[in-house]
Amino acid sequence: MLSVAQAESLILKIALPLTDQEVTSLLNAQQRILATDISSKLDFPYWDNSAMDGYAVRYEDLKTCGPDTPAILDVVTEIPAGTCPNISLAPGQAARIFTGAMLPQGADTVVMQENTLRQGEQVHILQCPQPQAFVRKRGAYYQGGTPILKQGITLTPPDIAILATVQCTEIPVYRRPVVAILSTGNELIAPDQPLQPGQIVDSNRYALAALVQAMGAEVRLVDPVGDQVEDLRTAIATTIPQADVVISSGGVSVGDYDYVDQVLAELNADIHIRSVAVKPGKPLTFATFPAADRKQPVLYFGLPGNPVSALVSFWRFVQPALRKVSGQAANWRPQFVEARTLHPLPAGGQREIYLWGKLSLDSGQYEFALAGGSHSSGNLMNLSQTNGLVVIPIDHPATEAGGVVSVMQVEAANT
Ligand code: AMP
Ligand code: MG
Repeated sequence: MLSVAQAESLILKIALPLTDQEVTSLLNAQQRILATDISSKLDFPYWDNSAMDGYAVRYEDLKTCGPDTPAILDVVTEIPAGTCPNISLAPGQAARIFTGAMLPQGADTVVMQENTLRQGEQVHILQCPQPQAFVRKRGAYYQGGTPILKQGITLTPPDIAILATVQCTEIPVYRRPVVAILSTGNELIAPDQPLQPGQIVDSNRYALAALVQAMGAEVRLVDPVGDQVEDLRTAIATTIPQADVVISSGGVSVGDYDYVDQVLAELNADIHIRSVAVKPGKPLTFATFPAADRKQPVLYFGLPGNPVSALVSFWRFVQPALRKVSGQAANWRPQFVEARTLHPLPAGGQREIYLWGKLSLDSGQYEFALAGGSHSSGNLMNLSQTNGLVVIPIDHPATEAGGVVSVMQVEAANT
């Protein structure tokens, strides 16, 4: 049985980023992973422009001005935003200008409207500005030809604004991993089927699909299978060629009906992990199928069926692998924060324990509130709104309320 840390590093060693690229559009770029560095021929600002409504002037003309000795300039043109000035300012001249409008030739400074007095065709400058005041210089924020966005970032709304600004409309991104989700178990029914005695509604399918979607990967739902070796073999064998990652739930423990490992072996998978010293989630199968036509193997995660175990295993082991497969540059790892526990916590045992609850910030310090009710791996009812898992290391003594603990953040969308 591997430790959590051993399992994590083995999984991350074996998971490889997809290298296939595709092109996406600005409206579809959110959360996609950039496949190349982006640079542009354009400078930004594209040209010198005004940061204020006011007057574009030649600083030379203003050096001696003040409230009692205003500089008086001839207003020779008006430049609204979006127009290209067709004159060059001569000594003694000014241009009426508006925010975002292009500076005319000859102008090097903008005087804000509030510091001027307009009189007919002339303007009085009442206060001497700093040289180059309120001018956004061409290229001041970005110089064309240099990288602006780095390969491997997850595109966010500000990144998308930058791409639009530099007129990058065909955005090279990595293909999304296709993640197949397969529930196993004779007892399972769909949520809209009438519940017969002894049956259980398949919730893992939906929880896992939501998690995979939140990670920007593409979900492929496989029809659930019962605990028959033949059916399981057929389901897994037909799914492998259609997916980059397969996540099944159920059928990985030591019961008589737990056939996942057996079927994986029959299908010649390399089984790397069968169990991890973690609670919940001890039975965790991690296997790979070599994919003949590409360098990344297909990853197979066999998660335990209990709903909490499936979720915790996903958060702890599948999520980092999926992010790596997606091509995310920063070596993504679950984030652990130090928090003060609001409740006493039990001692650790032979396995690393994860208990769920709510992490919040209070006066700059994290606090962790253990979810009330049973921490059974079958109790998903108190998982609602979970955003943290407190980690109780192996053999760790019990912690009193107020003690400092390590909490793993589990907001699915954190990047
Ligand atoms: P297993 O890991 O197959 O032994 O399943 C353990 C228990 O988890 C089962 O008895 C069910 O109560 C539950 N379970 C298994 N699969 C699912 C599922 N897809 N959705 C909800 N609960 C499940
Ligand atoms: Mg089962």
